[in-house]
Amino acid sequence: EKRNPNETEFLDAVKEVLTSLEPVFDNHPEYIEAGLLERVTEPERVVSFRVPWVDDQGKVQVNRGFRVQFNSAIGPYKGGLRFHPSVNQSIIKFLGFEQTFKNSLTGLPIGGGKGGSDFDPKGKSDNEVMRFCQAFMSELQKYIGSDLDIPAGDIGVGAREIGYMFGYYNKIKNVREQGVLTGKGLTYGGSLGRTQATGYGLVYFTNEMLQDAGKSFRHQRVVVSGSGNVAIYAIEKVQELGGTVVACSDSDGYIVDDNGIQLDLIKEIKLVRRGRIKEYLEKVPTAKYVEGFTGIWSVKCDIALPCATQGELDVEAAKVLVKNGTYAVAEGANMPSSLEAIKVFIDNDILFGPGKAANAGGVACSALEMSQNSMRYSWTFEEVDEKLKRIMADIYTNSKEAAVEYGYDNNLVVGSNIAGFLKVAESMMAHGIV
Ligand code: NDP
Repeated sequence: EKRNPNETEFLDAVKEVLTSLEPVFDNHPEYIEAGLLERVTEPERVVSFRVPWVDDQGKVQVNRGFRVQFNSAIGPYKGGLRFHPSVNQSIIKFLGFEQTFKNSLTGLPIGGGKGGSDFDPKGKSDNEVMRFCQAFMSELQKYIGSDLDIPAGDIGVGAREIGYMFGYYNKIKNVREQGVLTGKGLTYGGSLGRTQATGYGLVYFTNEMLQDAGKSFRHQRVVVSGSGNVAIYAIEKVQELGGTVVACSDSDGYIVDDNGIQLDLIKEIKLVRRGRIKEYLEKVPTAKYVEGFTGIWSVKCDIALPCATQGELDVEAAKVLVKNGTYAVAEGANMPSSLEAIKVFIDNDILFGPGKAANAGGVACSALEMSQNSMRYSWTFEEVDEKLKRIMADIYTNSKEAAVEYGYDNNLVVGSNIAGFLKVAESMMAHGIV
């Protein structure tokens, strides 16, 4: 805490992971001797820089940019860029630290990093966003590269921003470096299946967890919060596997349709019209709409998939789920459940898939995009999807086996932290003190 004053988010994340890792350090005194604890919690490099740009009124604006290159023991730094007013060094360090273990869990050779800016793209014109992205990249380009650090999108950074940054990077460096960013458009090096990867991957992971317990999605009532990228493709895959999704939400409220949510209508409202979820009732008057998003967890279900945002499932919601007989929860969003809510799930023997493992399909598919870029080749949708399915199954198996090996039985929170950490630790030991 003395080393990282005021970095609450970072300190919390480190504490959570290190608590899970206590049995590993007990088993491996050589890790302590090699200073692994201190080394793995210190980012390899933190870059913070000025991003000056000119708005549409001709006024100069100054934002702050970051790139945290946390750990490259198993491969080049990989992690998204977040543009949101809440961005600060603590948040980027926390995300970079978590990313290191999530990336390791995918089984692919990618290290951990994260970056972003306190710039708010909301309400900005296309030209303003472009000028900001160019100003941001004019500094970031010094630190990244397709064999060194490969940023991707995150909150506030989608295909538009990636496109502007990709175009500018290649222009000012006088290169055509296809693999320097991921999340690219399909016409210039993006991967088929990336859009679906996090939602589909979440359901593949959950399906493994269910099968291991002798269950499946067939004929189960499922609640999926959110109606964005992750939620929509999670709903699609649950329906394909025979489950009935009875509720979903946006930041205003949630809808309940006991006959099963009509996904085409949700896609039309949210993806095409960028409308509000309550418009669902205009076409399906038998459905119910409730204002406020947290109430969604009171809808009775067998399986709950939080896919909206961080902090959306608190301890009270967790208790309601348990009372209603929900037996499985898996996180599509990053940190949707509070630590107290997770404790309720674990204490009540609910099958629980933590986001670090369950939503790793997105970054896994980004790594597949890097492979395709290196080969100058594109796989078909089916080829990417098949690889994703195998990766998610492996993540489940490795997390489960690590939990069992260290005496934590079904606890995938501990299991995923341990499985992700061990590969990083072994690589760092092999490299010596560097
Ligand atoms: P989107 O922006 O596409 O969708 C977010 C959805 O959540 C929207 O429906 C939004 O509603 C809703 N939402 C936002 N805030 C709230 C809130 N406070 N309460 C209820 N609903 C809310 O984001 P993604 O689907 O891409 O991401 C969702 C989560 O998954 C995030 O935590 C993200 O970090 C995580 N994630 C995403 C990955 C990806 O590949 N996309 C990969 C791994 C994790 P509205 O329409 O009203 O804004």
